[in-house]
Amino acid sequence: MSDEPGKGSSDNVQVAVRCRPLSSGEKEAGHSVVVSVDVEQGEVVLTPPTSAGSHRRGEQARTFVFDSVFGPESQQLDIYNETARPIVDSVLEGYNGTIFAYGQTGTGKTFTMQGEKEPPEKRGIIPNSFAHIFGHIASCQGETQFLVRVSYLELYNEEVSDLLSKAVRKRLEVHVRPDVGVTVRDLSCFVVKNADEMEKLMTIGDRNRHFAVTDMNEHSSRSHVVFSVTVERSDVGPDGEPHVRMGKLNLVDLAGSERQSKTGAEGERLKESMKINLSLMMLGNVISQLVDGKSKHIPYRNSKLTLLLQDSLGGNSKTVMIANIGPASYNWDETLNTLRYANRAK
Ligand code: ADP
Ligand code: MG
Repeated sequence: MSDEPGKGSSDNVQVAVRCRPLSSGEKEAGHSVVVSVDVEQGEVVLTPPTSAGSHRRGEQARTFVFDSVFGPESQQLDIYNETARPIVDSVLEGYNGTIFAYGQTGTGKTFTMQGEKEPPEKRGIIPNSFAHIFGHIASCQGETQFLVRVSYLELYNEEVSDLLSKAVRKRLEVHVRPDVGVTVRDLSCFVVKNADEMEKLMTIGDRNRHFAVTDMNEHSSRSHVVFSVTVERSDVGPDGEPHVRMGKLNLVDLAGSERQSKTGAEGERLKESMKINLSLMMLGNVISQLVDGKSKHIPYRNSKLTLLLQDSLGGNSKTVMIANIGPASYNWDETLNTLRYANRAK
C-alpha cells in the first residue's frame, strides 16, 4: 500500500525509479542503507535514518509505487528492455518519444543514459538505443528506406547551445513556427549511417561540453543535455506510392535535482539555481498534467526545456521518466524529494 498515493497512470507516460548501489566510499564511511526496493510490487520504501544525529530519526517509513522499480543489482540491459525499448520501437514506427533521467547529482543519471563503454554490459540507454535502431534498419533491408539524423544540445541557464558545433558557446534561438512547430535556429544536424557514427557524435558533443566550461562537475550538475535522434522512414504503400513517416527520440540527462538553495549559493549562482529548480518543476507540471488528462492547456511555454520538447511530450508521444536515487542515509531528504517528484509525475 502506498501512503502517498499518486494519480491514475497513463500508458503514454511511464515512471521508473532506479536505486544505485552504495558506493565504495559510502561503504567505507559506514553509511547505512535507507532504501529498499520490491521489484515485483513496483515498490520503493524509504526507511528513516537510525543514526542519532539525523533530524529525520524516528520518522515513519514512506512507501511509493511506480510503473517499474530497479534495485542496486539491476543491469543496464534490463533497464533498457523495460523502459526504453518500447519507446524506441514506437519511434521506429514514426512516433515521438522522450526518455528523461532525473535525480540528485551522483545518483546515476549519466550512468543510466550513457553508461560506460566497457564492458558492453555497462552501456547505457543511449548506446543501446543506437544498436537497437540500426539493428532494426538492417532487419528491414530493401522494403523500407531509413534516414537517421542526430543533434545534441545543452540547456544551461535557459540558454541553448549546440554541442555538435565548433561554436559551442554561441547561444541559439528557439522559434515556434505554426508550420513546422518548435525549431532551434542553426542547430547542427548530422545524417548517420550506423551506430558507431552516432556514438562518435555523442563523444564529440561531450568533449565540446568540456571545452566550453572551466568546472565540468559544477556545470554538468546545472545543465540539461538533450541528444535527439530523428528517424525518417519511407515505405511503399498498397497504392505503390512511397509513404514517409518521421519519429523523434529525445534522450535527456537532466540537471541535478538537489535543492540548490541549501548549498549556500548567492548572487548570479542563486539566480541560476532558481532557474534550474524552476525548469524541473515546470517539467513536472507538464508531465503530471499530461497524465491527468483533464487540462486542455498544457503549459509547455513556461520553460525552454518543455518548449523544446513540446512536440515529443503528450499526444501520441511516449515518455519515460527514470528517477535515480542513492541508497545512503545522508541523502534521505533528497531521496524523499525525488520520490515525491516522480510520484507526482505518474
Ligand atoms: P549523475 O549523472 O546523476 O550525477 P553518475 O551517473 O555520474 O551520476 O553516477 C555517479 C557515480 O556512481 C559514478 O561513478 C557512476 O559510475 C556510479 N553509478 C551510478 N549508478 C550506478 C549503478 N547502477 N551501478 C554502479 N555504479 C553506478
Ligand atoms: Mg551526470
